[in-house]
Formats: sequence, structure tokens, C-alpha cells
Amino acid sequence: MAAVATAIHVRTDRVAAKRQAPDADDERAALTPPLTPPRGELPPLPPVAQLLKQDVPENYVTHALKATKPLPPITWATLYKEINWLSLIILTTTPAIAVYGFFTTPLNWYTAFWSVVYYYITGLGITAGYHRLWSHRSYNASKPLEWFLAFAGAGAVEGSIRWWSRGHRAHHRYTDTEFDPYSAHEGLLWSHIGWMILRPRRKPGVADISDLSTNPIVTFQHRQYLLLLILMGFIVPTAVAGLGWGDWRGGYFYAGAARLCFVQHSTFCVNSLAHWLGETPFDDKHTPRDHFITALVTIGEGYHNFHHEFPSDYRNAIKWFQYDPTKWFIKACQRVGLASQLKTFPDNEIKKGQLTMELKKMREIQEKIVWPESSNDLPIISWDSFQEQSQKRPLIVVAGFIHDVCSFLDEHPGGRHLLGKNIGKDATAPFFGGVYDHSNAAHNLLAMMRVGVLRGGLELESEKAIPPSQKLRVARVQELYMTPESSGVESDD
Ligand SMILES: [Zn+2]
Ligand SMILES: [Zn+2]
Repeated sequence: MAAVATAIHVRTDRVAAKRQAPDADDERAALTPPLTPPRGELPPLPPVAQLLKQDVPENYVTHALKATKPLPPITWATLYKEINWLSLIILTTTPAIAVYGFFTTPLNWYTAFWSVVYYYITGLGITAGYHRLWSHRSYNASKPLEWFLAFAGAGAVEGSIRWWSRGHRAHHRYTDTEFDPYSAHEGLLWSHIGWMILRPRRKPGVADISDLSTNPIVTFQHRQYLLLLILMGFIVPTAVAGLGWGDWRGGYFYAGAARLCFVQHSTFCVNSLAHWLGETPFDDKHTPRDHFITALVTIGEGYHNFHHEFPSDYRNAIKWFQYDPTKWFIKACQRVGLASQLKTFPDNEIKKGQLTMELKKMREIQEKIVWPESSNDLPIISWDSFQEQSQKRPLIVVAGFIHDVCSFLDEHPGGRHLLGKNIGKDATAPFFGGVYDHSNAAHNLLAMMRVGVLRGGLELESEKAIPPSQKLRVARVQELYMTPESSGVESDD
């Protein structure tokens, strides 16, 4: 125990020394500008007793759900009153217009190219603007970039920055609960578009958007939203194709309607597909998942498990080769001086999440494996009793454990004879190299033949008493600090 305490002490000192180093952890410093005043200026802390008196519920969501009433459930009779008609009209007429255009308007190559370009422009307005800049403040944008993203985002017709970011902040704060406006627990269709078409039964949970309320670009976009929607959603894509190469009709149907339909459903996939398809390499507490396909259809927002775990990171995909055009766009803006203060979560902390999830998987494998009985569960047998019992069945001592090798006599690769001549003997030395230095697999298998512990035999905690497969294992903290009493083992004295 003393050794452990010393080790921890030394470690703390090293960490403290590292913190004091002037050039240490640039990465950590870059994460968030300091929000708290320097130590000297801190107000005095309230006494603990006062803090305890404060009425803080154990769980805010459970408490708030009890304190507020949801709207009555939607029935067929009340359905028409519960529909958000504006959303429904936009979400149904846009694809209808696109389909009509597809059958009636030939696609010009210039228009096709422009439609894809405009898809990325308006998509980035949402992903790099609405999402990573305004909802999460994962970097600082210069005024020209902010204006560009505010206009581009309006072209995706998904509501104003203010409205979108408020809902998205609630989504992160109350993920998967009834206060999450697009909770994945309500089903794939609900999280994709249902939440916009039907009036939700509860308002999204409280989220602070005071920073957005004081941002002049955000407030301008909110006030002029309808005008910007028409301008950026339809007029600009149509006019570029019309004035550029005379394809007004194609511009309207392809770069306007069809592109809008794609960009909307692409970003809606962040709420639906990204909470449904893929892996959870960083945390499995909630529904967000990582998947390449989601990334592909959402301009890089598909590494959503990472994103929910580290929302202030400007990246969604941390590896350079993973498809995240939004991250590349922000990085490129930084290169040309349009963006700064790109936040990244410390790599060390990211690795902790990854390791935890890996260990969890390994623990599951470990629990499915049959392990040898431990010394606590085996009878203690004296040397004389061992000798006596060896007359009736083939018992061999190795590393303090008594093994019944009956089932293995004919299987022994070294032959029955070698095993036979060690019956009733301590074969520790021959097993570990005296005759043959057995493999790890052999040692693991031998441990499965344990039938008892030899009284006064080899010290059980010795290296040799532990099979190689058990030298490294995944243990829960409770198991590591389990006392003999709590483990049910009685001590000798
Ligand atoms: Zn999400
Ligand atoms: Zn987010």
C-alpha cells in the first residue's frame, strides 16, 4: 500500500511540474480562452453549509419533467391543429418542384456543376456556420466569413441561426431526453423531419443563447430571415445560372429546388442517421454514432459520437484522412486569415475515451471466457493427503496448485510417460524449463485442471502461480479495491 501511495505522490509532483512549465500543453491552452478571472480576483467561496442548502435537484431533467406538463397526445381528431403547416409545405413542395423540373427541364452541365457547388456552399453555411461556429463556438470567424456563412446558411432554408442554434444547444444539453427537440429515442423519422412537422409535446430544454442575441450578424439574419431565405434559397441559384449561361429554368429547378432538397435532408441526417448508424468509439452513454456513410452525406458531420463527446472541437473527424470537408474548410479559412482560435480537445483526453470503450469491449470478451478456479474457491490439501489421493487419480503439483491431469494424459504433446512419472510429485521445476519450458497456452490449459491448493506450497501470488492469460486483465475499480471481507474470503487469522 505504501508503495502505491508513493507512486501516486511522485506522479502528482510530475503533473504539477508539467503544469508549471511555461511551454507545456499548448494544445490545452488553445482549447478555451480563460473564462475565469486570475486567482487573486476570485470572489470568496460560499461556506459548504450554504452550498448544501441550495435547492439543487439530483437530476435536473427528471426534476424539470415532473415540474412541467407536456401537451396532450396528438390524436387523429387534433392532428390538423398540431401540424406546422409552413414546415410541411416547404418540406413537401420543394421535392415536388424538383421532381417536376427533373422530368420537364434538360440538365445543362454548367447547371449541374453549379448545383453541386451551391449544395456545398449552403451546406457549409449550416455545418461550418450554424453548427460549428454559432452553436458550438468552436472557432472565431472574421466578419467577412461570418457574413458569408450567415447568407449561405439562409440558402439551406432551415430557419435562422438564432432559432437553429438554440434548438441545437438544447439537443446537446438534453441529448435523448424529452427536452431534446430531436431525440433519437422518438424514432428515426421523428429525429429526421417529424419534429419539424408536428408540434412537439414539450418545448426544447433551456439553453443559453445570450452570445447570439448580442451578435449583430446573427440578429440581422434573424430579422431579415424571410427575405434572405427567398434570396439565397431561390433567387441567387437561379440568377447565377441565368446570367451566367442563360439557363434560368435549370437554375431554378436544379440549383434551387433539387439542391435545396438535398442540402436539407443531408443536414437532417445529422439528427437522424448520426444517432442511429455506426459505432461509439468515444462514449456509449447516449445515441450519437460515428459512421463514414453519415459523414459522406452530411459534409463531414458523420463522426457524431466524437462530436457529442467533444462538441467544442472544430473537427468532427480527428484523423486527417477521414472525410470532414467542414473541418478542411475551417482550416483553409484559418490559413487565409479568415478564421482563428480553432479549438481542439486535448489528444490525451480523447485517448481516454477511446481506451475506455476498447476496454469495455475487451471486458465483454473476458466475461465470456471460462477462467480457472481461484485459490479462494479450491480446497486446501496437505502434502500427505495429496500423496494418498495421487494413488487413486493422477494428481500433479505445479506452482502450489494441485492438478488432476486424468483427461490430459493421452493428449499431452510430450507423451503420457512424462506426465505419468510426475504423478504425486511437485512438477513446478520440470514444467517451467527443468524438462521443458512450456508455452503460455500450456500454462493456461494446466490451470483449468486445478482441483486444490497445496498447504504450505509455493506462494500463490508468485509469478508462476498466475497463468499468462490472467496477468493482464480488465478489472473494475470496485474489484481492484475489494477487501477480503467484501470478496467473501476469510483470512487465516
Ligand atoms: Zn446529435
Ligand atoms: Zn452539435
